Amino acid sequence: VRAELALLKDQAAVTIDGCCVELAANIGGPRDIAPALANGAEAIGLYRTEFLFMDHEAAPTEEEQYQAYKAALEGMQGRAVVIRTLDVGGDKQIAYLDMPKEDNPFLGWRAVRMCLDRPELFKVQLRALWRAGCHGNLKVMFPMVSNLAEVKQAKHLLFQAREELLAEDRPVARKLQIGIMIELPAAALIVDQLASEVDFFSIGSNDLIQYTVGVDRMNENIAHLYQPLHPGVLRLIAMVIDAAHRQDKSVGMCGEMAGDLTCIPLLLGLGLDEFSMSAGSIPQAKKLIQSLSATECSKVAAKCLAAGEADEVRKQLAVLA
Ligand code: PEP
Ligand code: MG
Repeated sequence: VRAELALLKDQAAVTIDGCCVELAANIGGPRDIAPALANGAEAIGLYRTEFLFMDHEAAPTEEEQYQAYKAALEGMQGRAVVIRTLDVGGDKQIAYLDMPKEDNPFLGWRAVRMCLDRPELFKVQLRALWRAGCHGNLKVMFPMVSNLAEVKQAKHLLFQAREELLAEDRPVARKLQIGIMIELPAAALIVDQLASEVDFFSIGSNDLIQYTVGVDRMNENIAHLYQPLHPGVLRLIAMVIDAAHRQDKSVGMCGEMAGDLTCIPLLLGLGLDEFSMSAGSIPQAKKLIQSLSATECSKVAAKCLAAGEADEVRKQLAVLA
């Protein structure tokens, strides 16, 4: 089986009827690049930069960040690397950031919300990204966006960082693709409005599910209610993909759902362009995709969207297995 999976490494993820999707890896830092490539990752769909901040006594400097991002880009040899800006808060507390204690941290001051309130912290990262962008195909992605103003503000700071670097005669990337994560139902519902501001979307299904069904993703008492296949979740995903495609913007997914063999045929049928997962899941995902018909998957996906509950969705999907 190992040999078979190794053979898959350099093959594309194409269905039997010729539909090609991108299989990417989620990473926590440059040391995860080698296993990603070994498993056949065509891109990095999510670089979680918070580890760079969590492993430190103080915020990493611009130079430290630049070196880490550059190493990841060089390792990927021109393939796309989606770098997510700092996503802390929620369950990820960082002592030196002096974060307030909140009653509902997952509904609180986290991710891009915090970064927009702390431009001096955020700008260091944005500057490092512009500089690193000279060394490969860097795409910036903002997490936990809930409205259009946040996207505009984040982009404003991003371009301000570029102007600062240019004024200092520092080399910067000519262009960076800009994307946002869709993790909140409110954002999913206004993708048609957000599309004009961004180049791409990536669905953060871990959070999108949690916020859609109102179930803490870590709470074991209600784990049975955390349902990726809840038709409400599926309808949101379908809306995101359709609205983005209408404006020629690509949609990926970088939550656990993207690497789940039960969900992949459904996501393929809904038209997802890119699947980003832990490196070890890529070979099996590719093998599955190569056995599927996209036409069949979209017919089944339509039935899943009309279902009343997750169990019914699961029954529809069993037809494809
Ligand atoms: C997600 O929410 O799906 C996601 C990829 O982000 P994280 O798991 O880091 O919150
Ligand atoms: Mg998330």
